[in-house]
Amino acid sequence: MTTICANLQAVRSRIAAAAQRAGRRREDIALLAVSKTVAAERIDEAVAAGQRAFGENYAQEGIGKIAALAALDLEWHFIGPLQSNKTRPVAEHFDWVHSIERFKVAERLSVARGGGLPPLQVCVQVNVSGESSKSGVSPEEAASLAHAVAALPNLRLRGLMTIPEPSEDASLVRRRFAMLRQLRDRLNAGGLALDTLSMGMSHDLEEAILEGATIVRVGTAIFGERARA
Ligand SMILES: *Cc1c(COP(=O)(O)O)cnc(C)c1O
Repeated sequence: MTTICANLQAVRSRIAAAAQRAGRRREDIALLAVSKTVAAERIDEAVAAGQRAFGENYAQEGIGKIAALAALDLEWHFIGPLQSNKTRPVAEHFDWVHSIERFKVAERLSVARGGGLPPLQVCVQVNVSGESSKSGVSPEEAASLAHAVAALPNLRLRGLMTIPEPSEDASLVRRRFAMLRQLRDRLNAGGLALDTLSMGMSHDLEEAILEGATIVRVGTAIFGERARA
């Protein structure tokens, strides 16, 4: 068994244990393997171990791997900061984008999608950590952005994504994740139909699952430490 295979099994066990603790069904939590900086051959090892969904942060790097692994039936998620000038290649090659924080970017993705492809699945990224984090819209801005994105053709708004500020304090991290869940519930009460909470990484996936994560994004615990962050 390869290291990647063993790591994947360990992560799956963590997810199952957290689901059980939370009283949730294991199948309601998807594992996204974050493969940024990881070469296509090592992604192939994860595929051999049964992993299908991969997350990438950089458009060019991700598209290179999507092309290299095109013979496999994989699902590709863009999870990094997205600039307006990269929207076309991302819209054409990825299945999901988790990091929508500006309407203009969402609009450009929608225009570039089309072409007979199914709708691009998207999440609005929310900053639940106040001034200690820069990425994502504030919880106050989330409703107007989410409603505007939900109205765009060629996109399907699935939910919310967050990356809390780094912290060793598990209860603080859990409160951050709870904030995202409560925001999702408020948006659904306001007429949206969001089924996705993309939250939790290698070190905090348990806290995220306890607060309702439906997608955990895990890199280091599967592929090992990255050379560049
Ligand atoms: C790198 C990254 C991850 C994975 O982080 P790990 O700590 O390696 O599990 C998850 N989400 C995003 C947005 C990332 O950039």
